[in-house]
Amino acid sequence: MAIWHDDPDLKERFYSEYPDDLLVLVHEGSFRFTNTKPEAIWSRIIARMEWDFRGGETIYAYKAILLNQPQNLKTLKVGQEILLVAHKAYQYPIRVTYDYLAERHQYDITPCNQCGLPELFDPIPKLIEHTFPDMNKQMGNKEFAVPVFSSFCPVCRGVMIVSGKRADTPENPD
Ligand SMILES: [Zn+2]
Repeated sequence: MAIWHDDPDLKERFYSEYPDDLLVLVHEGSFRFTNTKPEAIWSRIIARMEWDFRGGETIYAYKAILLNQPQNLKTLKVGQEILLVAHKAYQYPIRVTYDYLAERHQYDITPCNQCGLPELFDPIPKLIEHTFPDMNKQMGNKEFAVPVFSSFCPVCRGVMIVSGKRADTPENPD
């Protein structure tokens, strides 16, 4: 058995005859940046990936191969590798990108109030730049702590709440 079979967030998601295969919610970003819709696609996990980010946090995701050709997505093909994360309370593991993960740990996300989606589809700084250009200008300022803001869910357009953790994780004092 591989390490992912012990992950409680992945429990009971695998297909019985192919124990590394599971349905993943795959997307190419939110409606803000693409007009393609997310799809649930059978994927096969092949590795667990870990990265250490500044502040000592270790982030993990699983690398998987798409087993079916997407119906609508334009940039992904059968056989291609994706990354995914899973949350016990949400029906599907969710495709993520490295760019998304590299920023994700600096924020808390309150899942969508309608469908429960616990992850955004765009890297959060990209989302802020698009939605709140004034806030984005201030983010270069070291003293600036990203506030709490709401964001429309990329699946159902319900409301998700995003809050920056930066204020709670002081860096080396000057
Ligand atoms: Zn939603």
